[in-house]
Order: sequence, then structure tokens, then C-alpha cells
Amino acid sequence: MGAVQLQRNHAQIKAEQQNRLQTQARVVAENLVRQLRGVDSALRGLRADLTAPSAAQADVVSPHRLNELGRAMPGVRGIVVLDAQGRITVSEASVLEGQDFASREYFRAPRERPDYTSLYVSPPFTSTRGVYSINLGIAVPDVHGRFNGVISANLDPEYFEIVARSVLYAPDMLVSVIHGDGKPFIDLHPARSGHGKDPAQHSASFARHIASERSETIAEDEDALTHDNRMVVFRTVFPPELDMDTPLVVSVSRSTREVYAPWRDDVRSLALLFVLLCISSAGTLHFVQQRRQATSHAANERQRLADISAEQLRGAAELQQRTGRLAKVGGWQLELATQQMTWTDEMYEIHDVDRQAALSRGVALSPYTPDARRLVESAMHEAIQHGTPWSLEARVVTARGRQLWVRTQGEAIVENGRVVRLIGASQDVTERVRFATELQAANEKLERLTVTDGLTGVGNRRLFDQKLATEWTRCARRGLDLGLLMVDIDHFKLYNDHYGHQGGDAVLRQVATILTQCVQRSGELVARYGGEEFAVLLPGSDMESASIVADLFLAQLAQAAIPHIASSTAAVLTMSIGVASMAPVATDQPAQLIRSADSALYIAKHLGRNRAEQAPAVAGP
Ligand code: GH3
Ligand code: MG
Ligand code: MG
Repeated sequence: MGAVQLQRNHAQIKAEQQNRLQTQARVVAENLVRQLRGVDSALRGLRADLTAPSAAQADVVSPHRLNELGRAMPGVRGIVVLDAQGRITVSEASVLEGQDFASREYFRAPRERPDYTSLYVSPPFTSTRGVYSINLGIAVPDVHGRFNGVISANLDPEYFEIVARSVLYAPDMLVSVIHGDGKPFIDLHPARSGHGKDPAQHSASFARHIASERSETIAEDEDALTHDNRMVVFRTVFPPELDMDTPLVVSVSRSTREVYAPWRDDVRSLALLFVLLCISSAGTLHFVQQRRQATSHAANERQRLADISAEQLRGAAELQQRTGRLAKVGGWQLELATQQMTWTDEMYEIHDVDRQAALSRGVALSPYTPDARRLVESAMHEAIQHGTPWSLEARVVTARGRQLWVRTQGEAIVENGRVVRLIGASQDVTERVRFATELQAANEKLERLTVTDGLTGVGNRRLFDQKLATEWTRCARRGLDLGLLMVDIDHFKLYNDHYGHQGGDAVLRQVATILTQCVQRSGELVARYGGEEFAVLLPGSDMESASIVADLFLAQLAQAAIPHIASSTAAVLTMSIGVASMAPVATDQPAQLIRSADSALYIAKHLGRNRAEQAPAVAGP
């Protein structure tokens, strides 16, 4: 967005500046043309008089007349008439009369023209009186059409400088009037003050402009003297009706650095704006992240624990593999007729029983704890009576005092229609059982955490939704009212802004503690509903008793007197509470209870905060 805008601005500034420079160049050029026209017509008028067959030169062209003409043309310093030899015959300044100017360019050039019609424009030169100027001249033929002298007007550089200065609109702007051969006549360039006379000072773009023969050129060019880059407009002054032999060129320019300075300021401020935007959006991002963290804390916790239990399950698989390989499975057999119990070697190992000693004493079910022993004996009894196989896990204390979990399985062997013996297997499953117990504990913790708000430790939104649904149906079934308080901290944003997010978090915990302490009855629930909003579920509370709890909240928070100097409504932290209660109907949705409490909260906020308001009664069906 910014870049495109900037580019547009850059292009716009360029177009605007070029336009202005063009205008100023035209102003100077038009003024020049007007002066040239005046000079041209004056010179031609004089020439006509001088070439009139009857005229005597002194009569028709008097110094007085030249003086008059000169005064009528502010751009002209003086007009002189030179004879065929280059001597001044008439001049407004009589001291000049008789002086020889035959060597002067402005005399020789018109004389050497093939025709005597064109207006000769001399290159700038320094006059005998030390004035740097240009002469405009026309040749004067005699009655036979032969060269008979020159009438020459000397342009006033001061006048043209004034014209040039009149169009300046910026300190870095330059205006010059350049002779077609490249020599400047007027040049306001401070580095060329004292009238630069070196055509080489003029740029390549000037040469290109002349070569192109266009009336106007817009260019960018490096200044030969200062090497700064300039935006320049050349405008050629070469009116066809004047028949000038050489054009004059008006050049108007500005430093590009200065032209684009406001744009660069824009770039700078835009860059600054961009940086600020980045910073502030980083802030926003931080805030969003904080918020997201807060609201999805439980979800994260759930995920974390899910990861843990997944890991545990992987561990369990490994464990099963390991125990599967290593776990001893012992076999046993009980002859019912003799009550003789026979163990395999593994059975002795599992139960830490010395085989030799046991054989001498006989084996019993002694390793089982009394509870386990009862379980096993009844399973055996069942098997003998009804032929039912069994499989159970029992706690065993080995001969060396180790506590084990043993899985023992057995079945009755029937011969000739009678159960003659029991056979079975036992396996040490202690590790698996321990793991299962841990897993169960972890799952319980997980379950707790998935319904707990990570920041405040109270129930989270999930638990609230669950409890609201169950209490709604339970209260509907029992004909109880269900009360709900929506608690929202006042000006909590300001609290965050003033005390920082960490401070805000601490206050959220404090408020949660206060609320929990006020809500002690079983079935009642404090939950963080979102951000700085808590929902308190009060089963069995009508509007009156729910309001009492709300007032207790307000009183307890007031007593805590948590400073909140940024608040506009109180010096301490306050909250607003929306109170609602209704007799739920099982087939209705509990959302209406939330809506009701919400609208009460809205009213409390609008009545000035730090208060509890009851929900307006809803019209019955
Ligand atoms: P009102 O009195 O109208 O309730 O104004 P308020 O500023 O309390 O309400 P608003 O909803 O404008 O701003 C709530 C603020 O609560 C916005 C957010 O900065 C803050 N917030 C939300 N969740 C958390 C959180 O977990 N920790 C902290 N510190 N601030 C939180
Ligand atoms: Mg809020
Ligand atoms: Mg609030």
C-alpha cells in the first residue's frame, strides 16, 4: 500500500514540478519574445526610414528618436546605427558617435549575411562599457541593395535578469537565457555569477535540445559545475515571424534533491509509520497471543497431557514387550483327591519360595494376602462346583516380603464326569498394574486439567458448559431454580494498560480466589467464562439468593481494596454483576439463562458499574 502510494507521489511530484518549470520557462520566453518583437519592429522601422530614397539619414534617425525607441522597450539599453564601415553614425549617447565597431561580431555578421532580412542575434559579449550583453541587429542596404551599415540594439541584461528572477519559486531554482551557440546571456547560477562565458558549462541535454529543434525539452541532467542533479526545462525562443538567425533558449531548472525532498520526508515518515505499525502490531500480536493463551490454556494443557499419556502408552507397549519376554509364567496343578499342589519352577521363583524347603513342608496358598486368598478360594470353589474357569489379579506378598500383583488363571479338569483337579498359571503383573495405576492417575489429572482454567485455577468454560447442562436438567427434574451470575471486572483494559498484563493476570487470580471463597455450597461452581469475565452457577438459588451471593462478591472485592488508579469510576478494582435465575425446563436450552445474566450485566455496566443488577423478568409464554 505504502510503496504504491509513494511511487504515485513520486510520479506526481515529478509531473507537478515539470509542469511548473514549463510554465515558468514559457513566462520568460514570452517576455523575451515580446522584447524581441519590439526590437525587431523598431529596427525594421528604422531601416525602412534609412533606406527610403529621399531620406537623409540624420533627419529620419535622430539620437532623440533612438532614445525614444529605446525607452519604449525596457529590454533595450540602446540602439546604434553603424555605417558601411562600422562607424557609429547615430547613437542615443552622442559620445559613441564616430567610434569604430567594424571588428565587432555584431557588425560583421549581419554584413556577411547573404540576405539582409534576418535579425541577427549576437553571441553574448562584453561591451566597451563593460556590460555583458547581446546585440540584435539588422543589416541596412542602400537603394541598390548593397550593404550600407547595421542597426543594432543592445539588450539590457538587468532587465532580463529581473524577468528571470520573477519566475523563481524555490531557492534552488535556476533560470538562464542561453544563446543558441551555448553561451549564456542571463544566468542566475550563483556558481557562475559574473556571467559565465563558457559554453562548455552547458550540459549535454542543452546540446540535445538544440539538435532536436524542438521548442521544448524536459530533461534531467547533472550540473557541470556543482554536479548536482537537476530537473530542467529548455524552451527555445525562435518566433518564425522574427526571422532570427540564431535562437535564444530559456532554461529553467531545479535540483532534483530539493524537488523530491518533501517526497523523501514522506518516505521517511512513512517508513517511521511502518516501523510504528510493526511495533504496534507486534504489541497487538502479543496481546492476541496472550489472550489466546489465556483462553486456550486448558486446551494446551490437555494437549500436553495427551502427549504425556501417549508417551506413557508407548512406554507401556515397551513394558509389555519387556515383561512379555521376561515375565515368568508359572504353572500349577491341584489334585482334588489328595489336595496336593504342584508348582513349576517358575511358580517358586515368582513367589520367592525355596523349592527344597517348600517340598519338605508342602506348598500352600500362603503367599496371597487375606483378601486375595479369599478371592482365589471362591474362584476355585466355583470352578469345582460349576466347572467355571477363572482369571483374576491378586495381591501377593512373597516369602521375602515383596509385594506383587499376580494374575492367576485356572480351570477345572473333569474326568469321568467329576472334577478331579484344577490346573492354572500365574504371572507377575506388578509392573503392568503399577503402570495402569499411574495411567489412571494421569488420566484423572488430565480430566481435572481439561476443565480447569490455567491462569486462575477455577473451572474453565468447558466445565461451565458441562455443569450448566447437567445442572439445568437436574434442577428441571427436581423443580429447583438455577441461578447464574455473570461477573465482569470493570475497566480491566485500563488496569492492564496501567499495571501491565502480568499485573492484570495477578488480579484475575485474586478475583477468582475471592469468588471461590464466597461460593462454598456443593454443586455451586465458579468458572472463568472468558477474558476477565467469570460465570458463577448457583443451583437451587432463586433471584433473591443469587443476588445475595452477588452482593457478597462486591463486598469482598471492596474489602480487598485492590488499587486501580486508572479506573474512571473508582479508586479500587470493581466489578459488575448480572444476576439471573430461572426454573429450568428440561426441554429448553440453558443458553437463555446465560442471555438473561448477560443482559443484566449490560444493565449493571450502563448504570455506572460496581454493582449487581437483576435480569429483567421475561414475559412468560
Ligand atoms: P468494562 O468496564 O466495560 O468491562 O471495560 P473493560 O476494560 O473491563 O472491558 P474490555 O472488554 O474492553 O476489556 C477487557 C480486557 O481484559 C481486555 C484485555 O486486555 C483483558 N484481558 C482479557 N483476558 C486477559 C488475561 O488473560 N489476562 C490479562 N491480564 N488481561 C486480560
Ligand atoms: Mg468483558
Ligand atoms: Mg470488563
